[in-house]
Amino acid sequence: MGDRGGRAAERLAADGRFQHFIDGRWAEPAEGGRLESLDPGTGGPWCTIARGTAADVDRAVAAAARAFREGPWAAANATERGRVLRRVAELFRSRADELAALESRDNGKLLRETTALIRYLPDYFDYYAGLADKVGGELLQTDKDDLLAFTRREPFGVVAAITPWNSPLFLATTKLAPALAAGNTLVVKPSEHASVTTLALASLMAEAGLPPGVVNVVTGLGGEVGDALVGHRDVARVAFTGGLGSARAVIARTSDNLAPLSLELGGKSPQLVFPDADLDSAAMGVVAGVFAASGQSCVAGSRLLVHEDVRDELLARIVERARTVRVGDPFDAETDVGPLALAAQRDQVEAIVARAVEQGATLLCGGERPAGRDGWFFPPTVLADLAPDSPAAREEIFGPVLTAFSFRDEDEAIALANDTPFGLAAGIWTRDTARAHRLLRALDASTVWVNTYRVISPAVPFGARGQSGYGAEGGLEGLLSFTQLKSAWINTSSEPISDPFVMR
Ligand code: NAD
Repeated sequence: MGDRGGRAAERLAADGRFQHFIDGRWAEPAEGGRLESLDPGTGGPWCTIARGTAADVDRAVAAAARAFREGPWAAANATERGRVLRRVAELFRSRADELAALESRDNGKLLRETTALIRYLPDYFDYYAGLADKVGGELLQTDKDDLLAFTRREPFGVVAAITPWNSPLFLATTKLAPALAAGNTLVVKPSEHASVTTLALASLMAEAGLPPGVVNVVTGLGGEVGDALVGHRDVARVAFTGGLGSARAVIARTSDNLAPLSLELGGKSPQLVFPDADLDSAAMGVVAGVFAASGQSCVAGSRLLVHEDVRDELLARIVERARTVRVGDPFDAETDVGPLALAAQRDQVEAIVARAVEQGATLLCGGERPAGRDGWFFPPTVLADLAPDSPAAREEIFGPVLTAFSFRDEDEAIALANDTPFGLAAGIWTRDTARAHRLLRALDASTVWVNTYRVISPAVPFGARGQSGYGAEGGLEGLLSFTQLKSAWINTSSEPISDPFVMR
């Protein structure tokens, strides 16, 4: 079970008191505040983080603005930026396992999962290192032969990145790597519930050669640090991942600086299973899709839509697997489902399930916290026969809870799948290729997986629609979204302008 992230934590903050990372250095919060960080596996305190204020945000934004304007990062060309990102990838790879342990300690996620994911994240830096010098504008053919027109892609300047607690390093990486490849500088505000690995990454990046001020991390509360950051007059672009309520506050706050936003929010993603599917794979895909990470995944496939002919058989397999899933210590290699990240989150999940059952839903398994455990555990839970308009059926639960519905034909499946304000992801399980193509076109989701689920790659954009947000991270799109277009016109003729008072 290793040292539960202890050694890495000690190296970063020997006294267990984490600071901000501003202008290439650890920095105490200006007003001295602290927030306690709890270990979800035990419920006990394990470290404190700095409780930032607007004064810390000012310092960090000033450092980022300075690094954007002057110094080695401002002077670096795209090839040189790529070179630094490759060095970051290399050092990140060598520290992946200790960062995984640190993240599991901080948010309770299964060590098996954080290890696999975090070992993959350096590839994002390599991918964007490779793309950095391949992005350019276009030479444009116009009807004006004496004028040369072209576009340039330029960085925004200071980017604010706000991330949630469920996958801090992943969601920081998908913003940092493309934004840096494009030449921006950043101030990152991780979740107050899991900030430590983002601080570790920033200091690792500095070690790898990223100049001071290029990446800064200010920790603290959303309503304090987050609010001050996204509304800061020198922030030119905001990349936000989190919940809808916070996103609405961010939208309102950026009405001052008009910083363009990308928003990656929640979901209630459907998994559609047809009678011709390989039911064993589908059952495993559904179980993993919703119970992995204790359901605390934005793409959790939390709505099962199954054809009525195979409903009972599939549900029986899912329930059998769900009952045998091992819930426990995230550091134990035998565990499949760790704790929820927050006590309040566990209590809320339990209350939603209890209310659904009161309203007539059938509880096929799970539903109650295991007795005698200190951490914030909740078992895989399957609910059937829900009223389609009940909160458990419609709202994001962000816990290990699957709600099951059946359909008679494709049209009904599509109608049910699309009957939600979200539009993040969907899964289709079928052996019929034509059906898979029909369905993936008809589903109102930004990512559709067929006969698989929760697959990611730096090369593939991950977007959102509806109340799941807008914009995309990943792929070339993810890099372009951190650039702004400039159009240039050059007069190539030596003739005088015929009538300067008339637009040509
Ligand atoms: P949250 O909205 O409570 O917090 C997210 C971040 O926003 C935190 O850093 C928080 O401090 C900050 N914040 C809160 N209020 C703010 C404000 N007024 N101004 C600026 N920043 C503010 O979300 P959470 O509970 O940490 O995370 C869970 C949510 O994140 C879920 O809805 C989940 O679906 C979503 N999520 C989405 C994706 C995706 O890629 N679509 C990925 C992971 C999580």
